[in-house]
Amino acid sequence: MSESLGIIQLGPTADYSTEKLKERLSPKFPHYEVKTVTAMDTPAMAYDSFREQYHSTRILAFLEEYAQTVRMDHILGVASFDLYVPGMNFVFGEARCPGGVAVISTYRLRVKRLDDSDLFASRILKEAVHEIGHMMGLRHCTEPSCVMYFSERLADTDRKGDDFCAECESKMKWLEVE
Ligand code: ZN
Ligand code: ZN
Repeated sequence: MSESLGIIQLGPTADYSTEKLKERLSPKFPHYEVKTVTAMDTPAMAYDSFREQYHSTRILAFLEEYAQTVRMDHILGVASFDLYVPGMNFVFGEARCPGGVAVISTYRLRVKRLDDSDLFASRILKEAVHEIGHMMGLRHCTEPSCVMYFSERLADTDRKGDDFCAECESKMKWLEVE
């Protein structure tokens, strides 16, 4: 039986549809049954009012509880608000590595022009694939075109592709059969 991966919108507003993300992620992870899950309220306990950002590790803890409640193997949260971890100004996303939960934020992936919506969608896809790779146990890759390359800034995200390099791909196959 294939493992389930639920995509959930965090908070009342979204700037990208989880349904569209599901359609783009499904063919990349054929061993997962990808579903969308009903949106949930923003986890208030993760908000830092001084930084005006959400602590992504607290969101992961929140999602872990939620995954048990809905009995899903993996949950990917999609937030439109800004995320951080202590010691960094912001993060595009975070995941348990390996583990059952991950979160991405669309906040810093936004484009200035409306007609750049393809660029926006491709950035979201890359960050989602990257965090799912972490959930599966993949670490950062030194190949700048690989989706597992660490994005420190948006230029890194725009340079890399939405696929795993041959080496990450083979590691992933190996992790899958474990
Ligand atoms: Zn990463
Ligand atoms: Zn790689």
